[in-house]
Amino acid sequence: MKNCGIIIVGNEILQGYIQDTNSRWIAKKLTDLGYNVKIILVVGDIAEDIAEALFLTFKLNLDFIFICGGLGPTPDDKTVEAVAKHFNLKLIQDKNILDDILRKISFLKEKDIVNINQTKWITKMSYIPEGSIPLKNSLGLAPGILLQFKGKNIFILPGVPVEMKTIFAEEVEPRIGVGEKRVVKEIILKSEESKFSDIVEELENKYRKISIGMYPHYGKMELVIRIIGDESEVLSAIEKIREESKKLGVNIFET
Ligand code: ATP
Repeated sequence: MKNCGIIIVGNEILQGYIQDTNSRWIAKKLTDLGYNVKIILVVGDIAEDIAEALFLTFKLNLDFIFICGGLGPTPDDKTVEAVAKHFNLKLIQDKNILDDILRKISFLKEKDIVNINQTKWITKMSYIPEGSIPLKNSLGLAPGILLQFKGKNIFILPGVPVEMKTIFAEEVEPRIGVGEKRVVKEIILKSEESKFSDIVEELENKYRKISIGMYPHYGKMELVIRIIGDESEVLSAIEKIREESKKLGVNIFET
């Protein structure tokens, strides 16, 4: 199964001003597509920290790395520059991106939506690392970027959630396709979790192609066991949990 890592960039997140919802969205999407997310990191808009996150994710030998946030026109948006510096790549201006950005800006100016005259900052978004592929941003200005480096695919995406999701659907999904088919089954038990620890340990040892999570709903006497992975192993494991519930006299709410 192919492995992925997600690096979220943004001081606002580390300072607690906004909640990071992008990593959750990307992780769920990748899980649904049949990929395994191995790590999610959050770093500030600091070039050295972005480089450190890339270093760590590269050590994990991941197939896909998603970096999200900090692509905008302002000086605190440092992601593209930091990625290029880390991989020792030049930043090259892409004429098509520049034309696209200028076209969008003049449209926004006409509609009086925006008044940006600071060419230096606008054009900053048209620079991408040499050899990388721009990913069309049909909603915003800064394009996403795909950088292929030493057999790894690094997708750089904007932080604005709606732009990130649109680029993911239009540009990322067609490129990464689907991974391994996996099924997800949940069983909800009227029990506290410790009663099921032994059986879950046993199942983890027996079945190697699934991942089992135990999630108690605090405040309620309710335990969710979620199993993801190979279909036949998931179904057998769920069946074993049903049998165990019967033995223990534990009610099953729903599955
Ligand atoms: P721009 O600077 O052009 O707006 P960007 O790619 O640089 O785009 P950021 O500056 O990182 O994006 O973030 C812009 C806004 O998007 C943030 O102020 C926040 O509202 C939202 N945002 C960014 N990252 C996240 C995230 N991980 N989860 C949820 N919202 C986010």
